[in-house]
Amino acid sequence: MTITLSGLSKTFGDFTAVHPLDLTIPEGSFFALLGASGCGKTTTLRMIAGLEEPTAGRILLGEEDITRLPPHKRPVNTVFQNYALFPHLDIQENVAFGLRRRGVKSVKKQVEEMLDLVQLGELARRKPAQLSGGQQQRVALARALINRPRVLLLDEPLGALDLKLRRQMQLELKRIQTEVGITFVHVTHDQEEAMTMADRVAVMYGGRVEQLGEPAELYENPRSTFVANFLGTSNLIEAEITTVDAEADELQVKAPGADGTLRLPAARCAAEGAGTGDRVLVGVRPEKISLTHKEDAGGVPEGRNRLTGRIRDASYLGVSLQYVIDTPACPELTVYEQNVERDTRLAPGAEVVLHWQPSHSFALDASQD
Ligand code: ATP
Repeated sequence: MTITLSGLSKTFGDFTAVHPLDLTIPEGSFFALLGASGCGKTTTLRMIAGLEEPTAGRILLGEEDITRLPPHKRPVNTVFQNYALFPHLDIQENVAFGLRRRGVKSVKKQVEEMLDLVQLGELARRKPAQLSGGQQQRVALARALINRPRVLLLDEPLGALDLKLRRQMQLELKRIQTEVGITFVHVTHDQEEAMTMADRVAVMYGGRVEQLGEPAELYENPRSTFVANFLGTSNLIEAEITTVDAEADELQVKAPGADGTLRLPAARCAAEGAGTGDRVLVGVRPEKISLTHKEDAGGVPEGRNRLTGRIRDASYLGVSLQYVIDTPACPELTVYEQNVERDTRLAPGAEVVLHWQPSHSFALDASQD
């Protein structure tokens, strides 16, 4: 079901945890609220669940205004980080609990279906203490889904799991969401988690949505330094706009150490109305950059943005090599290179040309904080 938040806000005393928020969460989507601790994501989720009363604004589920409905009257269920399973009940009774409370008599078939969905059919008679963390999380999920909510809210549900299990459960959650087809709203501070699972992500900062979009869009076209840096490494280069080429829909900038001008698509510039002479920060993600030893610079294809630098550090990360490079425009530029043979890697001290496709750059307003 589509969730519409309109002017939704929450203040605690004189502190505003959520500033008036307008947000549409499409029906059937896997939606992530992503942000650092204290940005207001849990408060937003709790307002949708009915566990926190909004200071102002409305919450619509489809066409229905649920702002004042008590939690148990909303077709919404929540999975928390601490699974809150009943220790004395076995798994199937834990899952059956919601149905029994509603007075449903024959629960067997539905419980079986739910346990199959989370792939725990064989452990139905165990108690929670006899399960691993990941298995307990699946039980919590089955228990939350058995009442067929229209919306499932997940508050850092994987927070207590170790990294490997987290990765596994991320894919598992995505599979389950696709299978049941209802709207999932997932709160997390882990950008990789949000990017892996969600169709749409709202990045929150200081009680506001800083940017909303599909994961790839946020990563490739961030509109603020906060979003650029929160979602990975952004390599921000201080630059000045030299040309706005409306015909080519392109900006050209000059930056210290750049070999010629740097180019980027005008649509990738977040500085509203920026013109010639304005200062911007040009970003490019580490895996988009290629490196060529300065002596071989003649072989760099035409049309690429070029910057000169000196390798400070090279580390082997298994899947890639990570270089840290001193450049005049950005003192610690990071580059990831994949498929590099051990003996061809560039050594610290080497003078290099960094080059990338103009379409892989974005620009941010340099006057932002
Ligand atoms: P976390 O990941 O740490 O849970 P969050 O982004 O989910 O962070 P919220 O829990 O929504 O953040 O809290 C947002 C802000 O509101 C925080 O500064 C928090 O201290 C404050 N806050 C939350 N609940 C209350 C409350 N009941 N009374 C006063 N302040 C609160």
